[in-house]
Amino acid sequence: MRSNAWKKYNEQTLKEVYAYNEGYKEFMSNCKTERECVQRAIESAKKKGYQDIQYYIDHDLKLKPGDKVYANNRGKTIALFVIGKEDIQKGIKILGAHMDSPRLDIKQVPLYEKAEMAYFETHYYGGIKKYQWVTVPLSMHGVIVKKDGTSITIQIGEKENDPVFGVSDILIHLSREQMNKNARNVIEGEDLNLTVGSIPLNDSVKDAILKQFKEKYNIEEDDFTSAELECVPAGKARDYGFDRSMVFTYGQDDKACVYTSLTALLEIEETDRTICCYLCDKEETGSNGNTGSQSHFFEDTIAEIAYLTSDHYHDLLTKRCLKNSVMISSDVSMGFDANYPSVFEKENAALMGYGICFNKYTGSGGKSGASDANAEYIAKIRNIMDQSGVSYQFGELGAVDAGGGGTIAKFFANLNTEVIDAGIPVQNMHAPYEVTCKVDIYEAYKCYIAFLKNA
Ligand code: MN
Ligand code: MN
Repeated sequence: MRSNAWKKYNEQTLKEVYAYNEGYKEFMSNCKTERECVQRAIESAKKKGYQDIQYYIDHDLKLKPGDKVYANNRGKTIALFVIGKEDIQKGIKILGAHMDSPRLDIKQVPLYEKAEMAYFETHYYGGIKKYQWVTVPLSMHGVIVKKDGTSITIQIGEKENDPVFGVSDILIHLSREQMNKNARNVIEGEDLNLTVGSIPLNDSVKDAILKQFKEKYNIEEDDFTSAELECVPAGKARDYGFDRSMVFTYGQDDKACVYTSLTALLEIEETDRTICCYLCDKEETGSNGNTGSQSHFFEDTIAEIAYLTSDHYHDLLTKRCLKNSVMISSDVSMGFDANYPSVFEKENAALMGYGICFNKYTGSGGKSGASDANAEYIAKIRNIMDQSGVSYQFGELGAVDAGGGGTIAKFFANLNTEVIDAGIPVQNMHAPYEVTCKVDIYEAYKCYIAFLKNA
């Protein structure tokens, strides 16, 4: 039976929970996009002795037990490995999570002027309630790549003295018509225009903004066509509640599971079977594209490792490895919200503070699109968690007919890997600011370590 995880901590062990969450908040404050997460993962991994797998490929070097490598897919998806003592055919242990979060992307032809104000056109990314994204301070993160290949990294709005951006809303006094609209249409996709300036240069605010880009970054207007700029809520992660028991910040879906999975992997120096942390992009839009989980990247990386760890490579090594592998595919769970009980069925809902939530299946309606973990595998996971004293619970996203959603688990299940969904309970999921419980963050980390060591 599940129980409130706070109760098992004493004054001394609580210090570990809070200290771990200070690291979590720092990560959340500084790694808001998939690109920033990959950069951080590489930095942290290098400090622990990891090396780019490309180095082994380029120098035709073999991998041996204890070697630590990462494969970087276009700076937006990464897989990190500690090579185990056992043959790759025995399978590996995988932690998976996604680094992309809902946000407003800048369009390819973004800049325009209206009524002597300059704006950027945006296109929202992932499922959002559009009305939540107006009148909140937004920062801009990403890259602008010029035709000669020069890549300019942009991050504006996170430093104390940086300007921020925002989307305007109608004042309540004039909202009679707007307030009668369906919530879906209160703010429409094409209303999400980012205000970016108001000082004219020779009667043109647009020209003034372009001049700034030219002077600061040597960027022409056309260069925005080869840019990836993402607008996310500005500012740092904060403690939430009088007792500071929770974390309030952007992007905890799914970076809460990213941080906990990554720190768990980096903790482990040697292993029987090879272990892996796979952090991906594009989950929020269906895992499509070459940086999403439907890409061949992961499978091909396993093939590389099979080749680099064996003297006689053949295709079957990869297939046997995937068949014998086990995975926790993590994506946040919806934390039961007493303000909206009707969309939950409480016995099968994740409770805040009760530890990581395993989901046998995801999907919607009659389990449509679900990855459904096998009972035998769940039993094995339960046993590992109980033996390691990890607080965990089982739940579904919400009430049966309330809605639903998918994760990356099914793409790994399709590779014939044994996989279960799990996640940290989150409130306000997909809103600009989401809430997690510090003890759940810590229990997830403990869960991942137990899995990597004992699965
Ligand atoms: Mn999501
Ligand atoms: Mn997610």
